[in-house]
Amino acid sequence: MVSEKDCIFCKIVRAEIPCSKIYEDNEFLAFLDIRPINKGHTLVVPKLHCKNLLDFPKAEETDLIEFIKKVANAVVKATKADGFNLGMNNGRASGQVIPHAHFHIIPRFSDDGLRHWPNREYEKGEIDKVQKKIVSFL
Ligand code: 5GP
Ligand code: ZN
Repeated sequence: MVSEKDCIFCKIVRAEIPCSKIYEDNEFLAFLDIRPINKGHTLVVPKLHCKNLLDFPKAEETDLIEFIKKVANAVVKATKADGFNLGMNNGRASGQVIPHAHFHIIPRFSDDGLRHWPNREYEKGEIDKVQKKIVSFL
């Protein structure tokens, strides 16, 4: 487990290592991803260390969606994007590399050549079983 002391995004929040800052408030910081999927790819991180969405700090002031909308709107306008993806990897199996929760705002262009995830099929009746199982954990 990575401690706050060693966490790269905590170091960015503490300004111990530089970032290309886009916006911040008391609880969240937005900065450019150093290896963008498309130029303008921006990360939004909570200033408090947490590893993923499930242990996300309860925001006291920030409306996180408003924060993300404000930043995404600026990213889209600045890059003249045709759209954007809002993404979050949770856990190594999902592609999360940095164990400090973060959202990706990725500007998208009609001709950027990126592929979307493939679709799978449910077996007959399987969708109902999956639905019931998930609901049982609420
Ligand atoms: P993940 O795969 O964990 O969801 O995404 C981590 C992201 O953090 C990657 O897209 C990677 O390029 C970005 N990243 C890793 N280290 C740094 C860094 O030191 N500075 C910045 N700005 N971005 C970083
Ligand atoms: Zn951290």
